[in-house]
Amino acid sequence: MAASILVLNSGSSSVKLAILDPVTGDRAVTGLAERIGTDETTVRIRRGSEELTSTPADGSHRGVIADLLGALTAEVAEVAGVGHRVVHGGRRFTSSVLLDDTVVKALDELTELAPLHLPANLAGIDAARAELPGHPQVAVFDTAFHRSLPPHAYRYAVPAGWYEDHAVRRYGFHGSSHRYVSARAAVLLERPLGSLRMVTVHLGNGCSATAVREGRSVDTTMGLTPLEGLVMGTRSGDVDAGLLGYIAGRLGLDLAAVLDQLNTRSGLLGLSGISNDMRSLEQAADAGSAAAALAIEVFCYRLAKAIGALAVALERLDAVVFTGGIGEHSATVRSKTLARLGLLGIGEDAAANADHGERTGGRISASGSVPVLVVPTDEELVIARDTWELVR
Ligand code: ADP
Repeated sequence: MAASILVLNSGSSSVKLAILDPVTGDRAVTGLAERIGTDETTVRIRRGSEELTSTPADGSHRGVIADLLGALTAEVAEVAGVGHRVVHGGRRFTSSVLLDDTVVKALDELTELAPLHLPANLAGIDAARAELPGHPQVAVFDTAFHRSLPPHAYRYAVPAGWYEDHAVRRYGFHGSSHRYVSARAAVLLERPLGSLRMVTVHLGNGCSATAVREGRSVDTTMGLTPLEGLVMGTRSGDVDAGLLGYIAGRLGLDLAAVLDQLNTRSGLLGLSGISNDMRSLEQAADAGSAAAALAIEVFCYRLAKAIGALAVALERLDAVVFTGGIGEHSATVRSKTLARLGLLGIGEDAAANADHGERTGGRISASGSVPVLVVPTDEELVIARDTWELVR
């Protein structure tokens, strides 16, 4: 190993950890703490074929990170630095940065922009800095890849003072994933990234699509917060802003309660009333649930519409790339989406799609079509590489 980097992804209910080689991406060890902040917190560590499971006495972010690091003292002693996934960099942070007290304070001031995610990221940073005071630590931002958005893509048509005085603009998220898969797609297509114009589609619990023009993000579906854009597991994606006041009045809710429902009770879950999980919805639809079938239909239609819109930002479409849990594994979602994109010169190869492009170098499009690829994402590797760059 050239070096090893510890990557921490500290979310609101889970913490993921990996120790990996920033050059090859090889994992020495991975860890996962789930159901943080409940009575049922669990910690799992995987080292090669060995798996350790434990129940931490303290199920807070601080507690599980102390447990994870405590179980890995030998590996942790060797790491050259710690990379943290941070969801929002605001206007100030447009590339990865070494963490010190000043940066942490500035991140604290950004929590208003990402109240659902940043506090958990900061809890991870605080815990890791306290546990590993001798290790340099780096923040890698989900928004950073989208720093190249032009003003006509990032400005909202709202009073200019909202932008100037309150940083109201579109930022975009999932940047590490869009950056990774666009570079991988260029390798798979055997063409320089600088010559390619593609739409990358990240479909996990959160979903976003990005127009990547010659290696740079020029438009993306998420905005000020990760609520804008595509239909997601529990998030609505785009709605008419007028809906907020209307439903608040009808249900007697305040704005915070309406936003909470748009973030946690909407999307696939809200439409289907069954699940936020695409795999469960596909099973329910196969078993005859009309609500599950409708949720999948809305998801794919809205996605196809977004790919069409992003093609405008590219002026020429050289590839479409699917990634994330749904993008990598759901042949149904890909097929239903591609079926709506004939206008863009896209056609599916049904057999290649059915096995996720595994025997065709990722390619799932018919011959003569704009290439469509399935590319497994690796956000941890992007974080490890940026961290290594800053600490070496
Ligand atoms: P996260 O955004 O939390 O990292 P993932 O990228 O793992 O999430 O994506 C989770 C989503 O992927 C869930 O909706 C899950 O149902 C879906 N998914 C995973 N495997 C499959 C599959 N084989 N078929 C359909 N959907 C799948």
